[in-house]
Amino acid sequence: METNKEKYWQTLALDQLSQAEWESLCDGCGLCCLHKLQDEDTDEIVYTRIVCRYSDIQTGSCGDYANRSINVPSCVPLTLERVAEFDWLPDSCAYRLRYFNLSLPNWHPLNIGDDSQVKYHGLQSINVVVESLELDEEDYLIDKP
Ligand code: SF4
Repeated sequence: METNKEKYWQTLALDQLSQAEWESLCDGCGLCCLHKLQDEDTDEIVYTRIVCRYSDIQTGSCGDYANRSINVPSCVPLTLERVAEFDWLPDSCAYRLRYFNLSLPNWHPLNIGDDSQVKYHGLQSINVVVESLELDEEDYLIDKP
């Protein structure tokens, strides 16, 4: 019989997860690595299809995960408090789903046992361009993924 621990991603609250379980929740969509702009007047955050230069578009993972906060100071580790605060994260983000006590989708790697389908829900579903100084970010706005 399956125990709660075996399905920890569906049954445990975020604050009950071990560090390894917490890390495993990330589905690798990579969508949080898209650049975003914030409206000065309304504080609204708008996505662009410009992706961080460290992002691996094929896998959705960070090319230098250990040093991400050094390479990109605005890239802060996701914590329990920040999951609550970061309402700009994609609606599909596993941390946001579990924060609201919702189930992870069937395609989540923890549900299917591998990450072969995640790409269809992540960066590969968007016509991304890699960040560069020449780009005017306002020309690359997209709806929130
Ligand atoms: S949006 Fe959420 S699930 Fe997707 S890569 Fe970022 S932290 Fe992971």
